[in-house]
Amino acid sequence: MHIRETICPLCGNPSPRGEVCGQCRASKTRWLECPSRVSMVLCPTCGARKEAGSWSDLGMERSELAHQMVTRAVRFHPDFRLIAMDITLDEMSANRSRAHCRVSGTLFGEPVEGSCTLEVDWQKEQCDRCCRISGSYYEGVVQVRATGRRPSSREMEEATRIAYAVEESMMASGERLSFISQLDEHRDGLDITVGSQRLGSEIASAITRDLGGRYTTHPKLVGEKAGRQIFRITYSLRLPRYSRGDIILYSGRYAEVLGVDGKLLRCLDLATGSVRSVPEQQVERRAGHKGDAVDWMVAFRDGDLLGILDPGTGVTREIRAPPGREIPSGATVRILEDGERLVLVG
Ligand SMILES: [Zn+2]
Ligand SMILES: [Zn+2]
Repeated sequence: MHIRETICPLCGNPSPRGEVCGQCRASKTRWLECPSRVSMVLCPTCGARKEAGSWSDLGMERSELAHQMVTRAVRFHPDFRLIAMDITLDEMSANRSRAHCRVSGTLFGEPVEGSCTLEVDWQKEQCDRCCRISGSYYEGVVQVRATGRRPSSREMEEATRIAYAVEESMMASGERLSFISQLDEHRDGLDITVGSQRLGSEIASAITRDLGGRYTTHPKLVGEKAGRQIFRITYSLRLPRYSRGDIILYSGRYAEVLGVDGKLLRCLDLATGSVRSVPEQQVERRAGHKGDAVDWMVAFRDGDLLGILDPGTGVTREIRAPPGREIPSGATVRILEDGERLVLVG
């Protein structure tokens, strides 16, 4: 009597309390369930994926995505404890893969193993962003101009770099419709066409923060959609007349522009090394840009006179060393040529 109570009624193996043992329960339980197919909609142009009706950027390889999809699609019995899952992929065609999935774990404390095969169906659909780009959709234009001049090529390069950096950070934060659809350099400056108004104002703010100047916004009604008025915005941006790094001439002195605050320039006097504010209207003219200066070698020093070698012609020319600067012969100095005059900028 006692013995019958402690064996499994199905296999006769020992079982506490005489119940069906774990092994028999495990062999009779369906613990692994696989759908025969999973599908995914991807944009053929940019690779974005569509899930539950909305698009997102992937940032992963197709095989990695397939692994993720299969892992999510496979269902286990609640008492199953996973030890390992091994997925191998066969690429059948451009729009179909086959995933072989091997699973091991425990069920009711007994080791179990199983496998299944799923088809991965890759569907193609153009995403919202690519639709907008191919349809030349845009919400605004950032017009980069400068006061009384054309923006320099250096400023246009900077503005371009800033614009793309802002686009990248907005995309990374999930604003996938904040794209730059066009970037045109023309006679007056740079036009940056943007897919969202937020991107437009972020770019305009970032450029003025970095290069100075200011911008105004000019909305224009372009139509109506579902009862809502649709505007396009022109961000009219003006860089200051003088910008950081410019070498200017005022009251017969050369100075480097360190910053611009409205109509007041913060300048480094290149002869004395002192910093001062110069009202814009006192500037005689712009002599060049710090970045255009080149290295000249110091051939000799005689008191505060430097003999420096023209790197182009090899001819020695003389220039006064700024007070307090230790410039031994053999050193190099940065020289900007302003016509016949040499300006030591660093
Ligand atoms: Zn049993
Ligand atoms: Zn796309």
